[in-house]
Amino acid sequence: MAFAAVTSSTSMSTSFSSFEQTKVSQLGLYQPLDRAQSLSTVINVSRKRVAVKPLNAQPKRNDSVVVAASTVLSPGEIAEVVEKVEVEVEDYEKLAKDLENASPLEIMDKALEKFGNDIAIAFSGAEDVALIEYAHLTGRPFRVFSLDTGRLNPETYQLFDAVEKQYGIHIEYMFPDAVEVQALVRTKGLFSFYEDGHQECCRVRKVRPLRRALKGLRAWVTGQRKDQSPGTRSEIPVVQVDPVFEGLEGGPGSLVKWNPVANVQGTDIWKFLRAMNVPVNSLHAQGYISIGCEPCTRPVLPGQHEREGRWWWEDATAKECGLHKGNIKEENVNGNGTGAVKANGEATVTDIFNSQHVVSLSRQGIENLIKLEDRKETWLVVLYAPWCQFCQAMEGSYMELAEKLAGTGVKVAKFQADGDQKAFAQKELQLGSFPTILFYPKHSSRAVKYPSEKRDVESLLAFVNALR
Ligand code: SF4
Repeated sequence: MAFAAVTSSTSMSTSFSSFEQTKVSQLGLYQPLDRAQSLSTVINVSRKRVAVKPLNAQPKRNDSVVVAASTVLSPGEIAEVVEKVEVEVEDYEKLAKDLENASPLEIMDKALEKFGNDIAIAFSGAEDVALIEYAHLTGRPFRVFSLDTGRLNPETYQLFDAVEKQYGIHIEYMFPDAVEVQALVRTKGLFSFYEDGHQECCRVRKVRPLRRALKGLRAWVTGQRKDQSPGTRSEIPVVQVDPVFEGLEGGPGSLVKWNPVANVQGTDIWKFLRAMNVPVNSLHAQGYISIGCEPCTRPVLPGQHEREGRWWWEDATAKECGLHKGNIKEENVNGNGTGAVKANGEATVTDIFNSQHVVSLSRQGIENLIKLEDRKETWLVVLYAPWCQFCQAMEGSYMELAEKLAGTGVKVAKFQADGDQKAFAQKELQLGSFPTILFYPKHSSRAVKYPSEKRDVESLLAFVNALR
């Protein structure tokens, strides 16, 4: 009866959908507590706020918030329930701002305090071992899980063992589904990721096991840092509602993601690991920085960015294995430029790279350029979309570069390659993702694609000087 009364309410029927009713009745899980949590979801979805409710909030919960299964609510009573539930909801955007300058230890302590046994640290076997040390330092109990893809280096397994012994913990290993791995390997071989990209293999060996792990949690802790990938991780908050995965209660907003070292530099992580005598992966001593699966990780050279050691055969903006794909902005994945153009075709984003030293190439202009076998000057061309945050981020350095190269025999240019031009740019100009930077030598029609994520003036200049 009460169930019918609640679902007949306009706002509540939205969240407690017939799908959920079916799911609940199939699983036989319907309890008053579940209902209260669903109500909090309604409130937050309708007000565009966060819907996650920490575990340790439950004992403090005002029992009047939990509606008895036999109670029929009037609209006035429903409004009262809504108001009371809303008070308990955390605003994670605000919390992220409040904790922006907090230390990793403070952030970890807050995360463990709020979520107790419903939070776990995701440990990859690299320098994110720092998270385990921070959790240990809080003095609170903590859980750790790891994804054993079946393709890790022996050194990583040795680190797992050392960490378990050092902290007296059992890492909760997650394994891929054997049938799925079998199907992938039997049809495409052991190294299909070199042929058609890492996404499919990562989906089977990492993302799905991760999804299963997270379905048993209300929050997780990651070792993501802003400085790890200028392409995909430059805007990570210290805490956020997970934009991709679902937690224990299911649905959008049911999982919180903590990134306690988001604002910490890699060098400072290493100072901390050394100072605290934390066991580390012996691959680091061989030049590895970011460590994943053996076939997809390689050491980097001095000065190379750490993400250049991961999936090095792919474009920079695709370098997320799916575990943190919320970091990749939709526009950069699709590159369709729809965000920059209204329905009537009018541009909504101001153009970028506007400088007297940067030549703006039309479609005809760049077609002429790529046909020339013998150019008077060398050319550096950026393929860009004005709405792309990574293009915007390199605007200053590219214009400074253009100024430095003025009069040197190197022309610096731009070509807007989104929207109608995208298919042409993908086919003829090696466009993978924005921005793509091409160098056209004097005596060759073949362009050389800039391979690095580092887009500061010095790096770009070194690239030009190496080829001119
Ligand atoms: Fe597969 Fe490489 Fe992804 Fe590991 S990192 S799951 S081997 S594609």
